[in-house]
Amino acid sequence: MIKKQAVFLDRDGVINKCIFDEKINSNSPRNLNEFRILPKVKDALIYLKEMNFLLIVVTNQPDVSRGIILKSDVEKIHEYMQKNLPINDIYVCYDSNDNNPYRKPNNMMIIDAAKKWEIDLSNSYLVGDRKKDIDAGIKSGCKTFFIDYNYKEDKPKDPNYVVKSLFEATEVIRKLKNENKQFKN
Ligand SMILES: [Mg+2]
Repeated sequence: MIKKQAVFLDRDGVINKCIFDEKINSNSPRNLNEFRILPKVKDALIYLKEMNFLLIVVTNQPDVSRGIILKSDVEKIHEYMQKNLPINDIYVCYDSNDNNPYRKPNNMMIIDAAKKWEIDLSNSYLVGDRKKDIDAGIKSGCKTFFIDYNYKEDKPKDPNYVVKSLFEATEVIRKLKNENKQFKN
């Protein structure tokens, strides 16, 4: 059986704009009205689809368990994403407990997706804007892209690539794929 390649995508800061609220230490849009897809994200996802990648969103949404955001509002955002973007699946961890194996930097969301979709993790990628994302990707054996917004927090130590956007990550992935093809010929 030939396993598939995937790009695992963090949500806030990768697909959509973060909405920072320092008072409650949150960076997620609270509802569909606050949800804005970042420039060129749709193009990037279409290119990745054309390259035959599965596109899997893996997102921590701890504000739900903290009582700041309604689960039903997160679900509405994800329905909207599924309708408007070429995404195959969305995995969410609503828990704020770092011991939860599904909450990044733990990687059970990725492991579950890999089983369901028959994904070859060592030939897959993860794109994220925080250390937690990159660490989950490294743990899973994926190559990692860190979108660096210079947040005032620890940066991941060893992402494979540092980029400015999902679109830039997509261009690197396209180059890597082309180089691989040349090797095989
Ligand atoms: Mg993020």
